[in-house]
Amino acid sequence: MSSSRDVPVVLRRDAHRPGPGPESAPVPASMPTAGPLVDQYGRAHTDLRVSVTDRCNLRCVYCMPEEGVPFLPRSEILSFEEIARVAQVARSLGVTSLRLTGGEPLVRRGVVELVRQLATVGFDDIALTTNGTGLAPVACALARAGLHRVNISCDSLRPQRYAEIRRRGDLAAVLAAMDAAEAAGLVPVKVNVVLIAGVNDDEILDFAAFARQRARTVRFIEFMPLDAEGGWRRDQVVPSDGVLDRINERWPIEAIRSPDGDPAPADRYRFCDGAGEIGVVASVTRPFCGTCNRLRLTADGAIRNCLFSDDEVSVRALLRNGGSDDGIALALRRSVWAKLPGHGINDPGFLRPVRSMSMIGG
Ligand code: SAM
Ligand code: SF4
Repeated sequence: MSSSRDVPVVLRRDAHRPGPGPESAPVPASMPTAGPLVDQYGRAHTDLRVSVTDRCNLRCVYCMPEEGVPFLPRSEILSFEEIARVAQVARSLGVTSLRLTGGEPLVRRGVVELVRQLATVGFDDIALTTNGTGLAPVACALARAGLHRVNISCDSLRPQRYAEIRRRGDLAAVLAAMDAAEAAGLVPVKVNVVLIAGVNDDEILDFAAFARQRARTVRFIEFMPLDAEGGWRRDQVVPSDGVLDRINERWPIEAIRSPDGDPAPADRYRFCDGAGEIGVVASVTRPFCGTCNRLRLTADGAIRNCLFSDDEVSVRALLRNGGSDDGIALALRRSVWAKLPGHGINDPGFLRPVRSMSMIGG
């Protein structure tokens, strides 16, 4: 019997083309033009992920190719003022949390200044996702500028393996970054671990022990078909349910109940003996699209409603050609309104998006 599991993932070969400008198409009659950012399925969008650069100092095997990465020309990258303007409009439409990501956000010069500008907008939560390699020296400055917390990616606790997965970088520096983040008050520190079958899934219990000892939340993320090299295979995904079973056998865990409709991507669990917390992001085996509240701004100014959708609405021209805040608001509304009910990874006709993770902003 065939199933969606047998269907190969097709790589799109067509060139990336941003969607039409927000003023060039008619406004859908049923789209609200006031109130919060609600899509056609009733999901309110309150979380904005901002990619500040598509560049990175690492080349993780599940994300970027080792050589020959085509980066955006600098002239196409939004300035801090342009990012802050979009953020301000999003805030006026009910967005309450913001995450800076990339690429590696800390390779862009002056990110502390960007955080300072964004902090004046009045978000409830400003977070940063980083590979941690450049965090320690700026952790205090980021906290003073208004950053609330960080997620730090770290896929192995073994130095040699860490270097193999990330191709560059040094585990010791990343562990030091976690200490520095905690000392600076950027808490809770969450540690993102992308599991790949046969690569690092033998470290699940090591990471669980790490979470217990260090009171850090370790989040196990399923490998998604967003690697730039197009090498993703379904049999490389480590299903989250199996991860939870393995941990539960060693140290019993219990689900942390979240309110119905909680949009957080990670399912959270606490150790029954009270020694810390883990989470799983089961994007492939248990998609959570039904409660998704996220929209994205790419480094080159495209509003994107889903990691897996190529539907983009560019605001760069609006920002650079005297467009109004209402025009930016319309672009945000259009993007949210066009959002599909789910990412479709498990559908037979699923096509990988043209842009890979580091170009979208994870
Ligand atoms: N450079 C920063 C970092 O590594 O944390 C921020 C950007 S990175 C794209 C954001 C998150 O996406 C990281 O936790 C990374 O491990 C994760 N990621 C990248 N490619 C992925 C993939 N193909 N599947 C699942 N997660 C992925
Ligand atoms: Fe860089 Fe983050 Fe992608 Fe790794 S996951 S290559 S650190 S952007």
